[in-house]
Amino acid sequence: MAHVIVLGGGFGGLAKLWDLVGTRPLEAGTGRLDTLTGRGIAFVKATIMGIDPERRRVETSAGAYDADFLVVALGATDGFGALDGLQGAAHHLYDPGALPAMRAALSRLDAGRLVVPVLGGPYKCPPAPYEATFLLDEHLRRRGVRDRVEVVVTTPLPTSLPAAGSEVSDMVARALAERDIELRTGLMVEVMDSEAQTLRFAGGTTLSYTLALAVPVAAPPAVVAESALAGDGGWIWPDRESARTRFEGVYAAGDCTAVDGLPKAAVFAEAMATVAARNIVAELTGSTPTSFDGSGYCFLEFPERRASALEGNFFAKPAPAVHMAEPDTATYTRKEAFEAERLQEWLGL
Ligand SMILES: Cc1cc2nc3c(=O)[nH]c(=O)nc-3n(C[C@H](O)[C@H](O)[C@H](O)COP(=O)(O)OP(=O)(O)OC[C@H]3O[C@@H](n4cnc5c(N)ncnc54)[C@H](O)[C@@H]3O)c2cc1C
Repeated sequence: MAHVIVLGGGFGGLAKLWDLVGTRPLEAGTGRLDTLTGRGIAFVKATIMGIDPERRRVETSAGAYDADFLVVALGATDGFGALDGLQGAAHHLYDPGALPAMRAALSRLDAGRLVVPVLGGPYKCPPAPYEATFLLDEHLRRRGVRDRVEVVVTTPLPTSLPAAGSEVSDMVARALAERDIELRTGLMVEVMDSEAQTLRFAGGTTLSYTLALAVPVAAPPAVVAESALAGDGGWIWPDRESARTRFEGVYAAGDCTAVDGLPKAAVFAEAMATVAARNIVAELTGSTPTSFDGSGYCFLEFPERRASALEGNFFAKPAPAVHMAEPDTATYTRKEAFEAERLQEWLGL
């Protein structure tokens, strides 16, 4: 019998912002991975300390494992840098552990400036900072303080969502402006001065904040960056159509990979992982291999339980062929269903 080992694999981001603005607690979107054993999949909770892709051997805190096939899906960690200033009124937007402090700070915010700075690229889920500002805007309006709180989102990128193309970026910029949310592009945070409550950008611009909810830069997990799998930047660079790495029997998917044109998002982690799984089956059975063509979508949530899907082909040349529909309640329902279906299908929730 062939042994297939999946390292990591997760799906958690979607539910974090709902917790932040009080829509729903994070636990309601959380399942236990040990329920996988009911499907004949052994689940080992351990720290992976080394990956030898040549021998397909994995060293963990629970011992060493040898595999016929490996799927590396270890995600991305948060690279800090400017985040060293994440204290006081500055928080880490993507850290589930920071949610209680962020909720408390938000409930005290009655006036001033709320800034969501994207600290650099790549970062997880490119639409998430904008989604966060829409939900925060709605939250502040509900509390009746929005006219006294300025909301600003900053990004080092030239437009809001370059990975989705200029048409989508323009639509996002317009939607932000309609809600009186200021979008400031091309601003790379160099220092977060938590004492002065000020962001200092490359080139000398500064921006003070009353509350900052910062989006961290994504970094490859150390165990990946230190392995022979690591390419440029410490990421794994699999073939983007087959999810194969240069090592026989070793596949990679999700946020620990760098795939030209593909954002770090769960939908693409799932798409690449599905291709990896099918290609492992093809190797075992001689069936036809599968390839990923870059098609997919990201949800972008708006106030009043509306959402839009940024949908299309992210591999299209010369530019991504991605379309953004007007936000509506049907897409919001689709987003909820997206989460519920996976929690049920995978974890039996
Ligand atoms: C606020 C926010 C909102 C988001 N919204 C969306 C959305 O609406 N739609 C969407 O598609 N995506 C969204 N995302 C992105 C999504 O969460 C990620 O892209 C997705 O989780 C990536 O899956 P993954 O399996 O590659 O990595 P992960 O989900 O990060 O899973 C990797 C796993 O590997 C484990 N691991 C790492 N190193 C080790 C080690 N050494 N030993 C043992 N275990 C290890 C980690 O603990 C983790 O459990 C969002 C992200 C955030 C932060």
